[in-house]
Amino acid sequence: MLLVGLVVVSAAAAAAISIGAIVTGPDLTFDDLSTAAKLTFLVAVGATVNVRIRIRASTRATSWTEVAFLIGLAVAPTPWVILCTGLGVGIARVLLRLAPMKLAFGIAKDMLLAGTAGLVLALFEWQCPIAGTAQRLIVPLAVAYLATVVLDELLTLPVLALATHVRLRGLFTEHWDLRIASAVARFLVILCTMLILRVDTSLLLVVPPLVLSLHLAYSSRVRSRSEQAAWQRLATATDALNDVNLEAVLSTAISSATELFSADAVEVELHDGSVHRTIRGKATGITFDGPPDEAPDLSGNFIPVRLDGHDGGPDVGTLRLHFRGPVKLSEREQYTLQTFASALCTAIRNASAYAELVRVADANAHAAAHDALTGLANRRHLLDLGTRQLSQHHADGVTALLLIDLNHFKEVNDTLGHAAGDRVLIQVADRLRAAVQEEDLVARLGGDEFAVLFRGLPAPAMAAHRAEAVLAALHVPIDLDGMRISVEASSGIAVAPGSGGMTELLRRADVAMYQAKRAGQRIATYTPARDTADVGRLALGGDLPRAVADHEFSVNFQPIVDLNTGEVVAAEALARWQHPAHGTIDPFRFLETVERSGLLPAFAEAVLDQSLEAANSWREAGFDLPVAVNVSPRSLLDARFPDSVLARLNAHDLPPDRLILELTETLAISQLEVVDQVLGQFRQAGIRLALDDFGTGYSSLSALSRIPVHELKIDRAFVMAMETSTEAAAVIRSTVDLGRSLDLVVVAEGVESEPQRRALWDLGCSAGQGHLFARPMPAPRLLAALHRGSGGRPGSLAPPLHDEGAVIRFSPGRRPNGRGRADRLPHLPA
Ligand code: C2E
Ligand code: CA
Ligand code: CA
Repeated sequence: MLLVGLVVVSAAAAAAISIGAIVTGPDLTFDDLSTAAKLTFLVAVGATVNVRIRIRASTRATSWTEVAFLIGLAVAPTPWVILCTGLGVGIARVLLRLAPMKLAFGIAKDMLLAGTAGLVLALFEWQCPIAGTAQRLIVPLAVAYLATVVLDELLTLPVLALATHVRLRGLFTEHWDLRIASAVARFLVILCTMLILRVDTSLLLVVPPLVLSLHLAYSSRVRSRSEQAAWQRLATATDALNDVNLEAVLSTAISSATELFSADAVEVELHDGSVHRTIRGKATGITFDGPPDEAPDLSGNFIPVRLDGHDGGPDVGTLRLHFRGPVKLSEREQYTLQTFASALCTAIRNASAYAELVRVADANAHAAAHDALTGLANRRHLLDLGTRQLSQHHADGVTALLLIDLNHFKEVNDTLGHAAGDRVLIQVADRLRAAVQEEDLVARLGGDEFAVLFRGLPAPAMAAHRAEAVLAALHVPIDLDGMRISVEASSGIAVAPGSGGMTELLRRADVAMYQAKRAGQRIATYTPARDTADVGRLALGGDLPRAVADHEFSVNFQPIVDLNTGEVVAAEALARWQHPAHGTIDPFRFLETVERSGLLPAFAEAVLDQSLEAANSWREAGFDLPVAVNVSPRSLLDARFPDSVLARLNAHDLPPDRLILELTETLAISQLEVVDQVLGQFRQAGIRLALDDFGTGYSSLSALSRIPVHELKIDRAFVMAMETSTEAAAVIRSTVDLGRSLDLVVVAEGVESEPQRRALWDLGCSAGQGHLFARPMPAPRLLAALHRGSGGRPGSLAPPLHDEGAVIRFSPGRRPNGRGRADRLPHLPA
C-alpha cells in the first residue's frame, strides 16, 4: 500500500506539473488535440496487448505501453505524453476490469515511466517533432528505453512480491532471457517506428502488424516455456508423492501444490471412515493439522478438487487450493490439478494401505508376545527375553526370576464370574507393572500365574529384597465395586543358574514357589539343597483320573493335642498321593491340579471316606476322637456337598459332632449365599467347623462375624515367628482373646518345640498340633501311638506341662475362675 501510494502521489505530482506546463504554454490548437487523441489510443492499445502470467491471485503482465509512449515522445511534448499515457492506460485497464488499486497503480506507474523517458530524452536535447540523423536518435532512445524498463521492474516487482508473498529474487530472474530478448525486440520496433516517422509517416501502417507478430511470437514462447516447466514440475511433484509414509505424502502434497498452482495456501481434507482430518499449509510448511471444524477460517477463495483415483473408487477426501483474491485457473492448470489430485489420491491410498499393513504386523508381533487380557508379556516373550538376557556374556548384574501364583483365584472366577476374575487379574497386572523397575519384565504365564524377570541386579542377595517390594504391591485388597478381595499369593524366586538357561531358571523359581506353598510362606528363595527336582505339578494332571479310580489317594492323620495335658483331642486328616512312579506326593503339589480338574468331588469323597473310617476304628478302640477334614473352598460352592457329607457320616454310622470341617478363609467363605447355605446346613446337622490358617487372610474378622465356626486354627507362620516377633505374638494373643469372647476353641498349628508349646499355653491357647507331638501318619499307626501313650497315659502324646497335683498356674490372659480347659474343648475323648 505504501509503495503504491508513493508511486501514485509521484504520478499525481507529475500530472500536476504537466497540466501546469500545458496551461502556461502556447495556446492549444486542434492539431494538438487530435495528436493527443491518437496518442491516447495508441497507449490504450499498447496496454491492452499483453502477456499475462498469474502469480497466486495476482498477475504479471508484460504490455506494449512503453513502446506507445516512447513513440509519442517523438511527436508530442512530454507533458502531453504523460497525460495521454495516464488516460490511455486508464482506459485499457478499465476495459480489462482491473481492481481499483491495480488500476491506480498501473496508471501512475506508466505515467512516471513516460515522464522518466521524457526527462532522459530532454537530457539528450531531444527534438520534437523528431529530427536529426539516425545516429543522434539511437543513443538517446536506447538510454530512455533502458531507463523505463529498469524503472518498470523496480516499481512493479517489489509490489508484486509483497502482494503475493513470493520471493523478489525469483521474480527478477524468472524468464530473464525471454524478457531481455523481448525488450530488445521492442526497442527495435521503437527504433524502426522512429526512422519511419522521420522518412514517411504513412509507412506507420506496417508498425501494427510488426508489433502483433512480435507479440505473438513472444507470448507463445513464454506460454510453451512455462507449460513445459509446469509439466516438469507436475512430474516431479507426483514422483515425490511416492512415499509410504502418509505424513510425508501430505506435507509433500501441500508444498508442491502450493508451488505448482502458485496458491497462497493448500489444504487436504481426509475422510477415512470416522476419522476426519484437515491438513493445511503453505510454501513455508504446515500451518494446521486437526479436525476440519477446528481449522481457522481463511478469507479468499478456495478451488476444491475431489481426491479420487482414475479407477472411480470412493474418494479419500478433498484437495483445496486457497487464493487470497479471485483466480480462474487456465485449462492447462485445471488439467494439471486433476492429474495431481489423482496422483495424491493413489499416494494416500498406498500410504494408508502400508500403514495398515505395518499396524497389523505390529499387532501380530505384539499379540504373539503379549497376553491379551492384561497386556503383559506372555510366557513365550518371557522365555525369549530371558534367554537373550542370559546369553549375553557381558550382561550387567544378576538376573533373577520371581514366580507368583495367586491362591484360590479360581474361586473368584467361579463365584463372581469370569468378568470379575478378569478384572482382578488386570488389577494384579497393573500393580505388578507399577511395582517393578524399568528394566524388569512382568509377564503373565497363564491363568493366575505371573512372573517378574529382574535384570541387572547388583548382587544375588538383592533378588529376594526386590521380590518383597514387588509382592508388597499385592497387600492391599483389590476393590471390585466396593467388594474387597484380598489377593493371596505364593511366590518363589530364583537367581539365574550358571547353566541351563531360562528353562532351568523357570524350573528353579517353580520349585521355590512350591516350597513357599508348602511352608505356608508368601515367598521362598530357591536353594539347591532343597531342590528334589521332582515331578512338575502339571505333569501330574494327566495322572489324576487314574489316581482317583485306583484309589491312589491315602490319608495321614496328625493328632491335635491339649497343650496342657498332652492328651490327643482330635486328629487332622491330610491327604497323600501314593504315586506309582513318584512315590508319596504332598498335597501342595497336587491339590491345585485336583481343584482345577473336575475330579474334586471324587477326591473329597475319598478323603472323607478314609477319614471317617479311621475315626470309627479309633472310636471302636476306645479313643472317640473327632476327625478334622480339610475342605477346599471350591467344595463350598457345591450345593450338593452337605448332602454327600451327611450321607458319608450316615454310612459310617458316626455322630456328626465327630467330624470337624476345616475351612480356609477366602473370598468364597465371606461373600456368597451358596456358601452361607452350605455352612448353615453343616452347622444345623451338628458338624463342627474350624477356620484354618487363621490370621493370614485380610478379612479374618469380617469372616468370623458371618461364619458359624467352632474353632480357630492359628496359622503356623505365627507360631513359627512368635518367639522372635512381638507382632506375631500379638496376633496370637488377640486371636486367643477373640476365641474366648466368641467361645471358640483355638488350636495352634506347627508346634515344633516345648518352648513354643509353653509360650502358646501362656498366651491362652488351648490346643496345638505339630511335629513336637507327632507327624502325620497312617490311621493304624496313630492308633498304636494312642494305645502306647506318653508316660504310660494312653491317649496322650506328651507329658503334661504341669505335674499332676501341682498348682496350675494360670497365664495372665486366662480366666482364673472360668470353666476348666477340658470343658472348653468340645471334642475331648469321651
Ligand atoms: P493345613 O491344613 O494347614 O495342614 C497343616 C500342614 O502343616 C500339613 O501339611 C502338615 O503336615 C503340616 N504340619 C503339621 N505340623 C507341622 C509342623 O510342626 N511343622 C511343619 N513345618 N509343618 C507341619 P500337608 O500335609 O502337606 O498339607 C498341606 C495343606 O494341604 C494343608 O494345610 C491343607 O490345606 C491341604 N490339605 C491337606 N489334605 C487335604 C485334603 O484332604 N483336602 C483338602 N482340601 N486340602 C488338604
Ligand atoms: Ca488344615
Ligand atoms: Ca493350616
